[in-house]
Amino acid sequence: MPIKISLRTIDNQLQQKVREISGQNFNKCYQCGTCAGSCPMVEHLTATPRKLMALLQMGQKEALESANTHWVCASCHTCMVRCPRGLDITAIMEALRQVVLRQNINRIEPSNLQPEEVIDLPQIAMVSGFRKLTG
Ligand code: SF4
Ligand code: SF4
Repeated sequence: MPIKISLRTIDNQLQQKVREISGQNFNKCYQCGTCAGSCPMVEHLTATPRKLMALLQMGQKEALESANTHWVCASCHTCMVRCPRGLDITAIMEALRQVVLRQNINRIEPSNLQPEEVIDLPQIAMVSGFRKLTG
């Protein structure tokens, strides 16, 4: 889907929050695509990590909110290790999640899980999911 970019669509507050929480300067990204080429989850992402960096640089809140990238990211750190600009992309993913979760907006709602799902799901996976996807 095309993204319309103008001064009106730039969200400086979001950029600032992600910088503060992650401690990372995403403006250092020069769009080489190494992170996207290395990511084991890439086929499940609606936007690659490279694209996410571009959206952050342009402060495109709406496009960032509609991407599933930071939720699907497995926090494997491969992108961070390989980024030639030394960006901790995993920390940026975490910051993007925190921006949402700190508003008490859960990505998954534990109370909506069906009893059969609770029985089937490994407990460690549930706890890990709750820690990552709930505020
Ligand atoms: S590897 Fe680093 S510099 Fe290259 S696109 Fe990804 S974040 Fe940007
Ligand atoms: S940390 Fe996330 S974005 Fe980076 S390579 Fe791993 S799964 Fe992909």
